[in-house]
Amino acid sequence: MTDSTRNNDNERATVHAMVELFCKAHHSGDPLCAACTELIAYADARLAACAFGVEKPVCQKCPVHCYRPAMRERMKEIMRYSGPRMILHHPVMAVRHQLHAQRPVPERKPRPAAPQPAPENPARGENFQSLEK
Ligand SMILES: [Zn+2]
Repeated sequence: MTDSTRNNDNERATVHAMVELFCKAHHSGDPLCAACTELIAYADARLAACAFGVEKPVCQKCPVHCYRPAMRERMKEIMRYSGPRMILHHPVMAVRHQLHAQRPVPERKPRPAAPQPAPENPARGENFQSLEK
């Protein structure tokens, strides 16, 4: 196992713990309610598909917004509640996450074969003008 797969495993565990904290306080909690179970499954899938792979930054700092807006809102609400409480409930995870957050965000991965816009052809504008006359 490389450091980076460990990082993503840590991040997955951290997300699970944060959703659990929130669900216990706001929903059925134990076991997780259906909505939070769905959100965790979604978060796991996004994490597994992360464009940065091994260089993944913490999600809060990621330049790629890979969550659907509705899921993103739900996760933000959970982070707002659980973020400050993690140090009490899961101090090791909280510290590890803070350390991970210190690392620089990698450059965004280039998209495959994005077509470059053709350079402006000065002659073309003149041609259009002459056609309009
Ligand atoms: Zn819940």
